Amino acid sequence: MKAPSFAYAKPRTLAEAFDLLERPGARILAGGQSLIPSLNLRLSAPELLVDITGLAELRGIALEQDVVRIGALTTHADIERSAQIRKHLPLLADAVVHVAHPAIRNRGTFGGSVSLADPAAEYPACLVALDATIVLRSRANERMVRAEHFFKGLFEVDLREGELVAGAEIPAFLKGERSVFLELARRQGDYAIVGLAGVTSASRKRIAFFGLGAKPVLLQPKSLEEAKASIPPPSADLYNTAATKLHLAKVLLDRAWTKL
Ligand code: FAD
Repeated sequence: MKAPSFAYAKPRTLAEAFDLLERPGARILAGGQSLIPSLNLRLSAPELLVDITGLAELRGIALEQDVVRIGALTTHADIERSAQIRKHLPLLADAVVHVAHPAIRNRGTFGGSVSLADPAAEYPACLVALDATIVLRSRANERMVRAEHFFKGLFEVDLREGELVAGAEIPAFLKGERSVFLELARRQGDYAIVGLAGVTSASRKRIAFFGLGAKPVLLQPKSLEEAKASIPPPSADLYNTAATKLHLAKVLLDRAWTKL
């Protein structure tokens, strides 16, 4: 199928982007790796696509005072190739190679994935485990929301009218911190059946599951037994029952505990 007809605009400044986004039926286009298939499948029909990929200020990775800032337009491939991400956020470096395939990683963006909030996507769970902050911009304001509050439900995030995701601020790993990323998928590059992103240090243990429910499931357990007992009942998907998912989640927890 082909997409329904739409108008297209590529702003050169954020101010111009906010003007365009006020028009009725306007929708942000970033890498297009989820939005364009959804248009082709006629699952959505925006009147105007506002292509934000020309806004250089929304792209890039920077370390400032032990916080890693990732701009919304940073592609998955940028993250994959970043020495800073490997050094300061090894969890994200381990996760990104599970996001789709190289061709999609070349165009798909960090901000697109965060905004879409697919329940089986890797980044939302990583950001919750890392206790990241999502940075939202509107014409007049900047708003910061902790990742665990930003992801609200099935493809549902705390994004208000007139706002876009500008990026995220993530505490860089401190000495002694370790992480683990595990994912079970039918084939390499598919969305996960169940996955787990975990961070541990002397003072904290944060484990976030994805693929279990509508949004990332955060556990902060003291023991493996407590972790297993506190997994909330999973939602079944087209191919896997809730019981299968619960079993797989426990398998991942065993593996994560051994690794950590
Ligand atoms: P777009 O498709 O351009 O936009 C997606 C949505 O987000 C749209 O509603 C758009 O309006 C909105 N949006 C985009 N940017 C912003 C912003 N800055 N602020 C506010 N709203 C915004 N993803 C995974 O995580 N894991 C996978 O395993 C995976 N597998 C895939 C396999 C295939 C075959 C395909 C086609 C995609 C897969 N993806 C997967 C999705 C991929 O990661 C996309 O890159 C990502 O979900 C969306 O990013 P995008 O830049 O392409 O966004």
